[in-house]
Amino acid sequence: MEIVLVQGDITEQDVDVVVNAANSSLLGGGGVDGAIHARGGPEILAECRALRVTALPDGLPAGKAVATTAGRLPARWVVHTVGPVFSTREDRTPVLRSAYRESLRVADELGARTVAFPAISAGAYGWPTDDAARVAITTVLDTPTEVQEVRFVLFGAATYDAFSAALQHSRRG
Ligand code: ADP
Repeated sequence: MEIVLVQGDITEQDVDVVVNAANSSLLGGGGVDGAIHARGGPEILAECRALRVTALPDGLPAGKAVATTAGRLPARWVVHTVGPVFSTREDRTPVLRSAYRESLRVADELGARTVAFPAISAGAYGWPTDDAARVAITTVLDTPTEVQEVRFVLFGAATYDAFSAALQHSRRG
């Protein structure tokens, strides 16, 4: 599997799966979630609402993932996952790892070969950027998958640089 880093907007990626850093409600939010629903159109939210009624009455727990259509995005599917809110009292790294792993598991179920991830939990959920990058890169490298390209799409230069350093470190290690 190849890891590719891109500085840009995840809603513009021509990949099989775009991963959304959603919240447990699955009913939309800010950040990357807001951008995906705004650009992808109402079909994505309609499927999320249907999932809430059928499979997920209490919402999607942190560390889990679920797929919907990608609506008008260039991707084929959106895989919604929920990262943990960063905490100084408790190490929630296993939940962040699970968000990446479960997203790849759902992508494998769909038969996806190319998957774009944002920096899960690194925005509104407050995870320190360098650690979010390290966890993201090491988890993806450690996860058995049929996915051939994992593309991290980072919104700003600081996040891009953190992922770049984490990737270089993993290649040295
Ligand atoms: P979380 O609630 O999991 O922290 P956010 O959406 O607030 O999720 O932030 C996750 C990361 O996604 C942040 O680094 C943020 O800058 C970035 N981001 C926001 N919009 C986009 C976008 N359109 N494409 C890629 N990354 C984005």
